[in-house]
Amino acid sequence: MEPREPRQVRKEAAISDAHRVPVPVLLPMTAEKKGYLSIARKHRPQLFSEVVYQNHVVTILQNSLRSGKIHSCYLFSGMRGVGKTSLARLFAKALNCLEGPGEEPCNRCENCLEISAGRFPDVLEIDGASNRGIDQVRELRESVKYKPLKGRYKVIIIDEVHMLTNEAFNALLKTLEEPPPSAVFILATTEFQKVLPTVVSRSILLDLRRIPFQELRQQLEEICRKEEIEASPWALSRLAEASDGSLRDGLSLFEQLASYGDGRIDDGDLSTVLGLVGEELKEDLLRALLKGDKEAIFTLVERLFQEGDDLQGFYRQLFDYLRDLLFFLETGKEEKSFTPRQRALFEEVKGQADPLTVLRWINHLEKNDYTLKKSFHKRYLLELILLNLVYLREAVEVESLLKKRHPLSVPADNSAVSAPEGHPATVAAAPRTGHQEEGEVSGEGVLRELQELFAKEPGLLSASLSGVTDLKIEKERVLLTVARNRLSSLQTLERQKEALVEGFKKILKKSVRVDIVAAGEAMKTPRELLQEDQRVKSFLEVFQGEVIDKNQGGETR
Ligand SMILES: [Zn+2]
Repeated sequence: MEPREPRQVRKEAAISDAHRVPVPVLLPMTAEKKGYLSIARKHRPQLFSEVVYQNHVVTILQNSLRSGKIHSCYLFSGMRGVGKTSLARLFAKALNCLEGPGEEPCNRCENCLEISAGRFPDVLEIDGASNRGIDQVRELRESVKYKPLKGRYKVIIIDEVHMLTNEAFNALLKTLEEPPPSAVFILATTEFQKVLPTVVSRSILLDLRRIPFQELRQQLEEICRKEEIEASPWALSRLAEASDGSLRDGLSLFEQLASYGDGRIDDGDLSTVLGLVGEELKEDLLRALLKGDKEAIFTLVERLFQEGDDLQGFYRQLFDYLRDLLFFLETGKEEKSFTPRQRALFEEVKGQADPLTVLRWINHLEKNDYTLKKSFHKRYLLELILLNLVYLREAVEVESLLKKRHPLSVPADNSAVSAPEGHPATVAAAPRTGHQEEGEVSGEGVLRELQELFAKEPGLLSASLSGVTDLKIEKERVLLTVARNRLSSLQTLERQKEALVEGFKKILKKSVRVDIVAAGEAMKTPRELLQEDQRVKSFLEVFQGEVIDKNQGGETR
C-alpha cells in the first residue's frame, strides 16, 4: 500500500464544502504562481513545539518517546483540522528519526525527510473513509508481520478509523490483540463514539481540543507576517471566527482569499465569502430596532434586497441572534457559540434592551416565519414584520407605564382597588375603605340609590342587593360582588338582571352590562382590570399583544 499524500490535499480542498461557504472561483494559475495554496502544508508543524494548542497530547507523546515506552496503539480523537494527522506524522518521524528517538524529530536525517515527503516505506497512511474494506486491512496485517525496512517501527496511521467496515474493524482488532513488537498503530477519528469499544480499550486515548478563537487568530497573524500577506485586524478576527475551532479550515480559507486578493486579504472579499453582509446588517438592524428608527429599517431591508441576500435565511438568522441576545440579557452570561463580535454588540446594547421586548420580538418573528416563507412579497412583508417589532417595543413601554399606575400586586384580602384619576372608578361598598376623590362615581352611592329605586318595587330585588359587598362601575359594565353566604341573593340578582340594567341606566345615565360574581371566587384580578382598560385594550388589539403578569412569570427587567 502506498503512502497517500494526496489524500490530505483532497481533505483541504473539501473544506469549503463542509463549511458551506461560497468561496470565490480561483484561477489555478494565480494560485500556483503565488504558491498560496500550499500555506497549510508549508506551515504544518514539523516539531512538537510548533503544534498549536494540544500541549496535553504533546506531553504524553514526548513522555513516551523519552521513556521508550511505546504503546502499540494510539487513538487520536477530535474535530476536523485540529492537528490529528499532523501529530501522527510527527510521532512517526520522532519514532524513526536517525538522531532519535527523542522528544523532537531532527527533520534533517534521511528518515525524517522521507517521512515528511510521504516516501518512507515503514510509515503507512491509509484513509478509513476511502479504504474501508477488509482487503485493505488484511493487506495491512500482512505488511506489519515483517520487520521494518529502514526504521525502528512500522507506523500505521489510519485516519477516520470509524469509517472502516465492521469486518475490517474486526480484522484490525485481531492485529491489535497480538501486535507485532515493532508496529505502532495511530488511529484518528472525528467520531469517537463510532469506534468499537474493543478497539478503544486497546488504545491510548488522546483527545485533541477545539482550538480557541484567540489561538487561531494569533496563528493566522503569525502566518501573515511570515508570508508577507496583508490582512486587517478585522479580517483576522473574522477568519478566526469562521475557522470555528479548526486551524485547517482557517488556513484553507486564508489561502484562498490571499490567492484571490494577490497577497492581500481584502475585507470586502472576506465579507462576501463569509456572508458577513448579513452579520453587519443584523447588527445595524438590532440597533435600529432598539432606537425605534423606522426609516433605518426601510433602508436596511432595501440593502438586504439589493444585495440579493436570502431574505428567509436572514430572517432565521435574526431569530437566532435575538434568541442569543435574550439568553445574554436573562443570564448575563455568554454561550460558547457567541462570537467576540456578537459579545461586543450585546454588551453595547444591553442597557437599551429589555428581555420582555426581545421575548416578544422572537415570538413575533416565530409567528410570521411561515407567512414570510409563503409570501410572494417577501420584501414588503419583511418591512412590515420589522416595523411591527418597533411598535411592539413601544407598546411594552406604554404598558409598563400603565402597570406603574395600576400596581399588579394588591394584598389578597383587599377587595378595593384604588382608582387614580382618569381611570374608571372602582370603589368598595364593603369593607368601606374606598376614599372618594372629586368627580369619581361612588360604587357605594350607586348601590344605595339602586336599593332605594327597587325598594318600591315588588319582589326581593332590594333585599337581595343588601348581599352585595362590592360594586364596581367601569366604562361599559357594572360588576356586582355578592357575599359567599348570600348565594340565593346572587341567584335572585341573576334572574332579574334586566331590571338591574334598567336601574343602572337611570342612575348612571348610560347603558352598561351587568356582571354578578360571588365574593372571592371570580373576583376580577388587577390584571383583568388592566386588560379591560380601553387604552391597554386598543394597544393589545393593534399589536396583537397580551398582558403578561411579570410577578408570576419570573421575568425580570
Ligand atoms: Zn531525523
